[in-house]
Amino acid sequence: MLEALRSIVQAVNAADDLQSALDIIVTRIAEVMNTEVCTVYLRDPDTKRLIFMANQGLNPELIGKVSLGPDEGLVGLVARREEPVNLDHAEKHPNFLFLPGIGEEHYHSFLGAPIIHQRSVMGVLVVQQKDSRRFDEDEEAFLVTMSAQLAGVIAHARATGSINTAQNTVGATASFKGIAGATGVAIGQAAVVVPMAELHSVPRRQCDDVAAELKAFTAALDAVRSDIRALSDKLLTQLPADEHALFDVYLRIMDDGAWVAEVVEKIEGGEWAQGALSQVMSSHIRAFEMMEDTYFKERATDIKDLGRRVLSYLQANDIEPPDYPERTILVGEELTASMLGEVPREKLVGMVSVRGSSNSHVAILARAMGIPTVMGASDLPYTQIENANLIVDGYSGYVHYNPTPEVYEHFRSVSEEDHALNQGLEALRDLPSETLDGHRMPLWVNTGLMADVARSLDRGAEGVGLYRTEIPFLLRERFPSEEEQRVIYREQLLAFAPLPVTMRTLDIGGDKALPYFPIDEENPFLGWRGIRVTLDHPEIFLVQVRAMLKASEGLNNLRIMLPMISNVQEVDEALELVRRAYEELLEDGWDINLPPIGVMVEVPAAVYQARQLARRVDFLSVGSNDLTQYLLAVDRNNTRVADLYHAYHPAVLNSLQQVVDAAHAEGKPVGICGELAGDPAAALILMAMGYDMLSMNDNSLLRVKAVIRSCRFEDLQGLLDGVMLVDTADEVKAQLRKAMINIGMERLLQQTSGGV
Ligand code: PEP
Ligand code: MG
Repeated sequence: MLEALRSIVQAVNAADDLQSALDIIVTRIAEVMNTEVCTVYLRDPDTKRLIFMANQGLNPELIGKVSLGPDEGLVGLVARREEPVNLDHAEKHPNFLFLPGIGEEHYHSFLGAPIIHQRSVMGVLVVQQKDSRRFDEDEEAFLVTMSAQLAGVIAHARATGSINTAQNTVGATASFKGIAGATGVAIGQAAVVVPMAELHSVPRRQCDDVAAELKAFTAALDAVRSDIRALSDKLLTQLPADEHALFDVYLRIMDDGAWVAEVVEKIEGGEWAQGALSQVMSSHIRAFEMMEDTYFKERATDIKDLGRRVLSYLQANDIEPPDYPERTILVGEELTASMLGEVPREKLVGMVSVRGSSNSHVAILARAMGIPTVMGASDLPYTQIENANLIVDGYSGYVHYNPTPEVYEHFRSVSEEDHALNQGLEALRDLPSETLDGHRMPLWVNTGLMADVARSLDRGAEGVGLYRTEIPFLLRERFPSEEEQRVIYREQLLAFAPLPVTMRTLDIGGDKALPYFPIDEENPFLGWRGIRVTLDHPEIFLVQVRAMLKASEGLNNLRIMLPMISNVQEVDEALELVRRAYEELLEDGWDINLPPIGVMVEVPAAVYQARQLARRVDFLSVGSNDLTQYLLAVDRNNTRVADLYHAYHPAVLNSLQQVVDAAHAEGKPVGICGELAGDPAAALILMAMGYDMLSMNDNSLLRVKAVIRSCRFEDLQGLLDGVMLVDTADEVKAQLRKAMINIGMERLLQQTSGGV
């Protein structure tokens, strides 16, 4: 059964479009379960009707033409109950509905299972037989497993299908959910970027000059042929005959006229050579991969290899610089910093990455550059949307393809409001961050790049609460040397001096992998992360701390912060190393001071030991991003559980209060540098909790300041007391919303990232 299940899912995954996927499902399930009928009904998202979409055994002419209302028939019953219905005499059931012409009258037994994706019923999978018998337990379990596995595949194919439909239907539109990567709204045209030699991610594109594309294709084929011959000659004496025969196989594939003819035909039809090659090769690879015979399965690898070689030549000779639209929305399977760098800045308005998370470094860069971005839009059929009109909603994490005039109008006005609001807020930059009744609330920034510095200072930042040192590490091809680091850190410290700059020691691991120091783990967020890595590699830690200390000479505005602390020994060991580096530098003649050292509270254990930690260091800073994920056991980058990730969760708020109380009991200052600090509504309660500093993305600075300058500190304790009494994040959200309206800050509500 497991083998059957796997092979059906694999076949469905390989289908070109939704209809072929559904057709494969019904034929293969009927075959494996040995039933006479198998049907997929899909729910229309607008009308909620269940449409007869694919079938084996009934009247094929009615496919796509008949449907059932949400309360109609046994199929409606399965969808409504969200559980299987197994009957030996379907026609005797009160819900049975006779659909004329479909040909169901001969079939007595009925087994239906709901197809559920992300809690909502997408459709119903049904098998039927003439014999009056209940399907047995194994059969029922098989159908339920099948439908659970297929739900995601169907959802993906459907999303892709909506694009196909949209391409053929004037005005059709589609929306795709991802993760908010950088706030703001971007309206523009998609430019799809392709990593080198990745067959599956080449976008479809019309070519202007068929003859030139054909010529390029033939030249690429010739080049690969001669490469293989050269390689073959070189290895002739070194490889046994059997292995050497592989080169003959390669050459035979290259000379096989059939696939070459298919590519040529596609190019002649107007597709560019890279697209034609990718489409033809991908379908051959899929066909081979699906074969049972291992010899043929292996051939898929050979074809992939050859395809990539030909593609490399095509890409290398594609000297024409890409013609980026005036308002480019950069789209890619996995965007990287270098892809971003290739687009002229004045043309780049938004970004969408199919993979990755809000913490991928391209998202961090996007935030630093103020480019609205959606990450992890996994259902977006990115290869098919070159030049399409897109809207990137960096607030909610949605990408709207080919938006309707109403959707377009809505986002255009959001974007205009954003612009007006930002301009209005500029007036606040030199005004103090204090409440109407004179309570000061220092606002600091989170940085990672030099690009952040100018904007942060321009927006009146009073210091750096978190400098993510891993960012310069991420942008290199090896660990930066001590001197390279010293230069980078000096630049940051100089730019802000005399304002304080809090440098966090290297926080890699989790989802932040250095390309040159891969950490491959089953469960990276619970693994070798942050301080755990650097304590295991004191040489890396010491080099970094020495570079920081040297960089601070004569400026004395450095603070050092330790990430991912989960016990006091880690702090003691790290302090010992920092002191050692300091002493050594003094001996070497450096004129430096020992900077204040702090600990990040981002693991629940640190909340419960906040007093012990505070006793050992000069300050605490809450990393609410990680603290939320660890308290709620919700991966901060996983789209599937994104709805459960909420920094307003009462458990999170209680912890935040505990940390302030613990730090203050030890007479130490405490700040917060997670995303929550940049949420204008949350600032109201963080102030009331007693936080001494809020550190945020520079884009949030003026918004938070606007809120602070509009409220009375003496009113905030009442708000906090109320918030601490409720049981759910939604209730907290509602109370904060009310408070924001009361102080006339309603317009900042939609500006918040994870909050109200
Ligand atoms: C945090 O976890 O809240 C934090 C500020 O660190 P990072 O987002 O870099 O993990
Ligand atoms: Mg963190």
